[in-house]
Amino acid sequence: MTTLLIAEHDNAALKDATHKALTAAAQLGGEVHVLVAGSPGAKAAADHAAKLAGVTKVLVAESDALSHDVAEPLAALIVSLAPSYDAFVAPATSRFKNVMPRVAALLDVMQVSEITKVVAPDTFERPIYAGNAIQTVKSKDAKKVITVRTSTFAAAAEGGSAAVEAVAAAADPALSSFVGEEVAKSDRPELTSAKIIVSGGRAMQSRENFSKYIEPLADKLGAGVGASRAAVDAGYAPNDWQVGQTGKVVAPELYVAIGISGAIQHLAGMKDSKVIVAINKDEDAPIFQVADYGLVADLYQAVPELTEELGKL
Ligand code: FAD
Repeated sequence: MTTLLIAEHDNAALKDATHKALTAAAQLGGEVHVLVAGSPGAKAAADHAAKLAGVTKVLVAESDALSHDVAEPLAALIVSLAPSYDAFVAPATSRFKNVMPRVAALLDVMQVSEITKVVAPDTFERPIYAGNAIQTVKSKDAKKVITVRTSTFAAAAEGGSAAVEAVAAAADPALSSFVGEEVAKSDRPELTSAKIIVSGGRAMQSRENFSKYIEPLADKLGAGVGASRAAVDAGYAPNDWQVGQTGKVVAPELYVAIGISGAIQHLAGMKDSKVIVAINKDEDAPIFQVADYGLVADLYQAVPELTEELGKL
């Protein structure tokens, strides 16, 4: 059995999600090759992939058509490589939630989405109903197309020295083309790879309060900033901060939930965090049922005190 892991990268280096998806890919039991597909210059990310422990070969495809995360040319490339592989694994990032269903459809197989455990090479666990039930799925397809919920797999180590081989990009199906993008720039860690996340909820009441209370605490901790959907819907926080069932799924070392009630849709995105701290003025808030440390307090008093104390360390 040979597995092709499709790398998440920024053309210069791999993203952490690739290391985590590799752990899942290796558990399928066969040889693992990595595909790095990107714009010209992606060889740098491929050289990074060659250092991943357990990877035996890295394929690199460089083409303008593979820039800007346009899904169809990447799906066509993966399908062109399909005869040599039994399984295709990718992290369940926004990019691959777009690409991998196309691969599965073109191969006429069923995608197994967001696995959290490899039970056997053809059997996987995945959460359903916002994480309230775990489904065990057995795939009878000859070729498996799998996305990985990276928050539940440890990152694979580096230390390998695989060969890097260039492959030609497949013909661009020209079904879509890149028009433009607006990229939010932030010095803070990306939510899905942040080791610490400070999140605010509806209780923040305004965008200004996020800047005044949540962001200074996050800066003191070197943390990423998250938000509940209620806070995002109210315009207190941007969309890409949303944590939960319809937002990002995170599992940092430390998750600090401030003024968040703990609705099941929010918990679905953060309950696997290693340590959960909750600050809420309602002692019956459901967030306290999953919190390791809970503070029943008014956030407008407690958060500035906490930030100030951290500043003294
Ligand atoms: P609330 O539930 O209103 O809680 C606010 C909390 O702040 C309360 O517990 C209150 O006691 C506390 N509080 C108020 N003032 C203070 C103060 N001064 N100091 C301290 N504490 C205070 N939600 C998500 O977060 N992510 C998702 O991805 C998501 N997806 C959804 C998908 C679907 C299909 C649906 C139906 C819902 C989804 N939701 C999601 C919404 C979810 O059900 C909740 O409505 C939402 O999480 C509530 O956000 P909240 O905790 O910020 O607000």
